[in-house]
Amino acid sequence: MTDHSTNSSITSVDTIINSVHIASMDEKITEPYGTIRDAAIGITDGKISWLGSNHEAENITANDTIAGESQWLTPGLIDCHTHLVYGGNRAEEFELKLSGATYEELSKKGGGIVSTVNATRSLSEQALFDASAPRLQKLLAEGVTTVEIKSGYGLNLSDEMKMLRVARKLHKSFPVDIKTTFLGAHALPSDFDNKDSYIQFLIDTVLPEVSSQGLADAVDFFCEGIGFSRDQCSRYAQAATELGLPVKGHVEQLSYLAGAKLVAEFGGLSVDHLEYLPEDDIPVLKDANLVAVLLPGAFYSLRETKMPPIKQMLEHELPIAIASDLNPGSSPIASLLNVMNLACVLYKMTPEVVLRGVTANAARALGEQSEVGKIRKGLKADLALWPIDSPAQLCYGMNLVKPSMVFKEGRCVKSL
Ligand SMILES: [Zn+2]
Repeated sequence: MTDHSTNSSITSVDTIINSVHIASMDEKITEPYGTIRDAAIGITDGKISWLGSNHEAENITANDTIAGESQWLTPGLIDCHTHLVYGGNRAEEFELKLSGATYEELSKKGGGIVSTVNATRSLSEQALFDASAPRLQKLLAEGVTTVEIKSGYGLNLSDEMKMLRVARKLHKSFPVDIKTTFLGAHALPSDFDNKDSYIQFLIDTVLPEVSSQGLADAVDFFCEGIGFSRDQCSRYAQAATELGLPVKGHVEQLSYLAGAKLVAEFGGLSVDHLEYLPEDDIPVLKDANLVAVLLPGAFYSLRETKMPPIKQMLEHELPIAIASDLNPGSSPIASLLNVMNLACVLYKMTPEVVLRGVTANAARALGEQSEVGKIRKGLKADLALWPIDSPAQLCYGMNLVKPSMVFKEGRCVKSL
């Protein structure tokens, strides 16, 4: 037994879950997935307080005992990149496109992000909450216990704030940790005719207000030809940094603008998408302690063909996270488990790398690695129990497995 068996003097816990195989995702445990077989876990005050063999657990007293029945226990899953607060949907546009409509015809009908901005602006705060909550609940049903949610469909002061307030309210209303991200620099709204003046408006007006109301945990931008230039993103990132907000970026998705290196310059949290990332930039990202967040749902929906340089990222030991990118346009997929399968099939990633990408590395992408993402003593008891024979079963198909129980800070929030 390694580190996990050093339970010193603990003899009682609030809850014990026994007879489980644990995929701890703890790199200190050298087995694949950080596996501890025939194990048990103790929970006290919402945290993991004891970890050891099933046999050792017989000496521990608990108020509550849950029989794991040889199922697998993983950390609660973490979806570290979503846009799940939005109004409307784009099914009509999807249908028109497949019926052969041209880009001009679609944009005349106000398609694309404009339609989502209009739909999001038109909803009251309560209606936006009601539209978004079912999408969050679909993630929670899959064992997700931490979710990041971005703004970026309001694109003015009041509606960006409304989106972030809805995300905060979702946090209060459901058993999940939600990290909010201000994504004002997502697209140019029709209220502005040039990108420089819109970025200046975000810097002068929206960012300070979002910051003073404590609505955002981080700030994001879309650095792309159809988004904002590197220079515009740099000014915006500078303003965010001065307000003490960490930066992340949608970068190198459709072209290379060196946006990932920009996030590195600002000491940010994560760089997301990365299809066009050149290998030379990878050591820079690694040195800046960034996490590469890959979004195979968008790759799939957009039928992209340019692969992110995953092999090189792994060779350089750049941490990789996987997220749903749940949004109404390029990734209308309210399932992290399905996206885990897409990562394996489309990106040829191994199930172990993918599971690390939705647990330990996703936690890192949110700056939450000292709280969640692994099964290790002292971390929050955010856990999912799965009726599976091996962790690879979580990735190998679609809609075949669901957790039998989910725990948020030690409290059972879902059971079959
Ligand atoms: Zn995104």
